[in-house]
Amino acid sequence: MSGTKVQRSLCSIDRNSSAPGAYPKTVLGFDVSTINSVQFSNHTGYKCFKGQVLNSDDLACLYDGLQENGISSFSHILTGYIGSQSFLEKVAEIVVDLKKKNPSLVYVCDPVMGDNGEMYVPAELLPVYIDKILPIADIVTPNQFEVEKLTGIKITSEEDAIEAMKILHSRGPKTVVISSSEFSSDGSITSLASTVANGKKEVYKVQFQKLNAVFVGTGDLFAACLLAWLEKDKDLKLALEKTIATLQSVIKRTFEKAKALAGEGNRPTPAQMELQLVQSKTDIEAPPNSYNAVVL
Ligand code: ATP
Ligand code: MG
Ligand code: MG
Repeated sequence: MSGTKVQRSLCSIDRNSSAPGAYPKTVLGFDVSTINSVQFSNHTGYKCFKGQVLNSDDLACLYDGLQENGISSFSHILTGYIGSQSFLEKVAEIVVDLKKKNPSLVYVCDPVMGDNGEMYVPAELLPVYIDKILPIADIVTPNQFEVEKLTGIKITSEEDAIEAMKILHSRGPKTVVISSSEFSSDGSITSLASTVANGKKEVYKVQFQKLNAVFVGTGDLFAACLLAWLEKDKDLKLALEKTIATLQSVIKRTFEKAKALAGEGNRPTPAQMELQLVQSKTDIEAPPNSYNAVVL
């Protein structure tokens, strides 16, 4: 762990460091202190996984360690997958404490709860996200399912998504980014971003083709890249464009490699579908200028 510089130092609370978000944070220049919410052998898309789930006492203990060494001043905190109510409540306490130490701390919350109509965390986490986390989050990056859970709005159109983002703003975060939503009749994916910072409202969207494959960890990668580009460029439109550009490069490279490894007519295994991150270093550092966000 490190984190002595306040400038661009990031506290990351997420599943263990094999999570795809870890690499881009470092590549894009953050000094990262990592706290694992779980320590698993591999992601949960494999036939089995082994390891430990950290509880709120473990989290408190790790945070104590940072404090006792005087290395708990961060410019950013990012939280991702969290599997228990007490752990999430402790996260909220820590964020409040960190904001006392550094009032300009930016809290980016990826409220990982589920996807495609299914919750993969206990239902008790939802009210904690709504009541304790949203009010202190500066930026949230839910997927469509998570936006629907957090707002109660079913998203079947662009208007629904904009309405849901408005509700999220009213609960706290000045910047809301929906990593993906699917409501277009042509089967494409839409990513939307909205900010009410500096007294003006801006809404952007990027639409792109859906690849016929399921990737694991794209949400982690999305949140990490967005955080980094927002910090570097201070421009939501550009940050969204760069984030989508990186994501599309990574998943296309991943899918091509997986298909080649699996061989004609075979379905790639979870190992073959692991995101090609190191191989995509250039696309992470300098995303291709391939997507133009529409101003809504
Ligand atoms: P995870 O479950 O891995 O955390 P998530 O549901 O939080 O993922 P998504 O919104 O599904 O995250 O994906 C994040 C980004 O990854 C999207 O904005 C998109 O750019 C890309 N992506 C993921 N899956 C696909 C796909 N099948 N086709 C095209 N793009 C995809
Ligand atoms: Mg998804
Ligand atoms: Mg996600």
